[in-house]
Amino acid sequence: MTPTITFVQGDISRVSADAIVNAANSSLLGGGGVDGAIHRRGGPAILEECRRLRASKYGKGLATGRAVATTAGNLDARWVIHTVGPVHSTTEDRSDLLASCYRESLRVADELGARTVAFPAISTGVYRWPLPDAARIALDTVRTTPTAVEEIRFVLFDDQAYEAFARHLRVVP
Ligand code: ADP
Repeated sequence: MTPTITFVQGDISRVSADAIVNAANSSLLGGGGVDGAIHRRGGPAILEECRRLRASKYGKGLATGRAVATTAGNLDARWVIHTVGPVHSTTEDRSDLLASCYRESLRVADELGARTVAFPAISTGVYRWPLPDAARIALDTVRTTPTAVEEIRFVLFDDQAYEAFARHLRVVP
């Protein structure tokens, strides 16, 4: 079965889902934007598990395009899936790495048995990826990735992000 793709505008740290995807950085030790909101609302348990990951399997941090799960702490979710988006570049095509964030997050979600997954617009904040292109990559990737996830919900923070995703869905039904 192909998953249902939905959009909502809002704060991803407030949604209810089996797994919430975090637009993390490779340190896994917190940052601004989505990362800041998730750690603030999710509480210290998430950061503690991230620290343990850094002390064990991810000594050098999480590579760009990869994903790893932790507890969701106080969030209304069972897991947070941390993924590291690429910084946008005008001289190098890093689209594959951005697509990989969505693919790897869904792979981890499948391993966990998550049925509903909430995604932010990875790389479109501090990492400056232009929204229309990021929306195209996100939607094309989740549509073509085989997964047992039943609902993929994009949680877009502002009007501009919401419109970019909605527009792409209208263009490509
Ligand atoms: P990145 O470093 O991958 O660019 P950011 O967290 O800076 O990640 O931003 C990714 C996107 O998430 C941006 O479009 C930003 O506006 C949006 N965003 C920021 N805070 C939240 C939040 N609490 N919930 C959902 N989206 C958010």
